[in-house]
Amino acid sequence: MSESRRYHVTTFGCQMNKADSERMAGILENMGMSWEEDPLQADLVLYNTCTIRDSAEQKVYSYLGKQAKRKQKNPNLTLVVAGCVAQQEGENLLRRVPELDLVMGPQHANQLESLLAQVAQGNQIVATEPVHIMEDITKPRRDSEVTAWVNVIYGCNERCTYCVVPGVRGLEQSRTPAAIRAEMVELAQQGYKEVTLLGQNIDAYGRDLPGITPEGRRENTLTDLLYFVHDVPGIERIRFATSHPRYFTERLVKACAELPKVCEHFHIPFQSGNNDILKAMGRGYTHEKYRRIIDTVRRYVPDASISADVIVAFPGETEAQFQDTLSVMEDIVFDMVNTAAYSPRPGTPAAEWANQLDETVKQDRLQRINHLVSQQAEVRSQRYQNRTETVLVEAINPRDPNQVMGRTRGNRLTFFTGDIEQLKGQIVPVHITETRAFSLTGSALQLATV
Ligand code: SF4
Repeated sequence: MSESRRYHVTTFGCQMNKADSERMAGILENMGMSWEEDPLQADLVLYNTCTIRDSAEQKVYSYLGKQAKRKQKNPNLTLVVAGCVAQQEGENLLRRVPELDLVMGPQHANQLESLLAQVAQGNQIVATEPVHIMEDITKPRRDSEVTAWVNVIYGCNERCTYCVVPGVRGLEQSRTPAAIRAEMVELAQQGYKEVTLLGQNIDAYGRDLPGITPEGRRENTLTDLLYFVHDVPGIERIRFATSHPRYFTERLVKACAELPKVCEHFHIPFQSGNNDILKAMGRGYTHEKYRRIIDTVRRYVPDASISADVIVAFPGETEAQFQDTLSVMEDIVFDMVNTAAYSPRPGTPAAEWANQLDETVKQDRLQRINHLVSQQAEVRSQRYQNRTETVLVEAINPRDPNQVMGRTRGNRLTFFTGDIEQLKGQIVPVHITETRAFSLTGSALQLATV
């Protein structure tokens, strides 16, 4: 019997890409292939790509160069580019890397088997036309055995002027509450303790699903979904990302405060603290509205962890407007902020604008804001000192094999001495003895599931 082909998947970018890669790996395993750790030894190599910034896009080309040389020597090698660069570039990618066998957009992730069947007949395939994303029949090959990504809505209907996502991931497609619940029930049966519900703009969940309540409200919102899946036995923690201030509701915060499994961590990108920049970005809210949202979150969930995304040096951003971003951060004091300098992306309105800022301004503002991010994270971590936090154990501390690591409900990485065989997948109360900007150290009080 011929030896099974070995595959390797490399993932760039966001959680949505990680979830897509797990699904595609599941399909390849279902086709009888086995995982190969070394991409230069694999018989099928799949790069699941990101184009959110130019630097992310450029990464895949260096990898493809090496693989193209392998393909020239070994025609049986199968080369696949998936994800957002595949969607953005399509046929151009074949011209740039003629050795490629398959170029497939994110919406085609769960059609990998039928696309590879066409490749096996000697075709070079480009699959980037918009499709309706069907429910998966194959089981994802998940990176973690403890926490799982669960897609709830694909794509995005927003039109933020800097963002490629709508162009490469397509229009919003919500999964049904029943399909999401069924996936969570299955995950619980496999021993998963935590799920993160995923959507580029998760507050848009259900907009494309039927159902209006007698009061005229949409029947299927993220809030309704949280109530609907909350009682899945075995799932102890529920997280969700990424929120959008334009659609974030008090009803959602209230539900999070009420539902014990929903973790006290909110990821709500605000992008800029200046209203003119927010307008130019097409974000659809003001910094005043954003501040009110954070006040509402802290009113219902006083100890909530709050993280965000920010873009600095957006076209035309003045020093004063940048200062507005810093002052929103100084007033709110975030647990974590993902920062990026504006990167002009193909097909986005802002990329065409004349008032682009130069690289020195970008790096200068990035450096200053990152300094503030670390300072704030340090301050926010200090509130855990001498407190007991429950930690869901995920893995061994790669830096100290005597320690295990996991996350608090507030999503802070935490290390403590323990045996991974005994503790993996357990929720352990940990007394915090040491705090750092982005992680904590403590000692386990006792082994108890909370
Ligand atoms: S909400 Fe805006 S930034 Fe987020 S994915 Fe959609 S278009 Fe992009």
